[in-house]
Amino acid sequence: MSERKIALITGGSRGIGFSCAKELAKAGCDIIINDICDAATAQPAIDEIKSLGAEAWFYQFDVSNDEQVHTAVEKMIAEHGKIDILLNNAGITKDGLFVKMDAEQWERVIKINLGSAYYVSHAVIKYMMKARQGAIINMSSVVGLHGNAGQANYSASKAGLIGLTKTLAKEFGKRNIRVNAVCPGFIQTAMTADLGNTDEYMKLIPMGRLGTPEDIAKVVKFLALDTDYVTGQAIEVSGGLII
Ligand code: NAP
Repeated sequence: MSERKIALITGGSRGIGFSCAKELAKAGCDIIINDICDAATAQPAIDEIKSLGAEAWFYQFDVSNDEQVHTAVEKMIAEHGKIDILLNNAGITKDGLFVKMDAEQWERVIKINLGSAYYVSHAVIKYMMKARQGAIINMSSVVGLHGNAGQANYSASKAGLIGLTKTLAKEFGKRNIRVNAVCPGFIQTAMTADLGNTDEYMKLIPMGRLGTPEDIAKVVKFLALDTDYVTGQAIEVSGGLII
């Protein structure tokens, strides 16, 4: 089994997840990228991670499908022996005002954003318990802490991730498994590409700029590798959006 740590990153072929993958690769980890896209689409991301001197592998599966998750995690363990770091990052938005939000819109977002963290963590954590170490990081959001009009489904899913984070931190601390959440503000990715004119958002941010995926990746790397004693925390990374 490799001496290097292995990090599994869901939704990791682009955006924040991909940036986290590169940051962890630069810090000496090997990387398992999951995404829902096909292998050819993810290949440039895999190549870029390998160019940083890390091993990188791609596993296509839907994080909201429990069976697919279990099959894929068992395959990862058979092929690579361990998962030291899990970043539950895959997520979607299906925004709309609450009165117009139908049940499908609600359930899809809850299942992909929150259900996935249960499915993947549940599949992985037994191997972390055997290894007597591990770090899980859940990609929440500032709206999980503070709410946001037009995002009842998304905000609820992200708040749920914080509850899951704190509970798993309490259940698994004695097993030397740390569980934390990161709560990004406005980060420039495909997810926020349709925000349009961002001047109004910028006025709300004391740092005076939108965040980058790299801003998030630095905090993820800290939680994954640079601390042994931070657990159960939801860390806001938003340029001071809400102080
Ligand atoms: P992104 O660019 O849309 O990346 C999300 C990735 O997750 C995509 O590659 C997407 O694939 C994948 N994904 C979606 N559904 C999936 C599924 N069922 N199974 C596996 N993979 C799936 O978004 P991002 O901005 O980097 O966001 C990453 C995380 O940060 C999300 O959890 C998001 O909620 C959170 N976040 C983002 C911001 C922000 O401002 N960007 C702020 C707070 C929190 P496809 O697109 O191909 O479906």
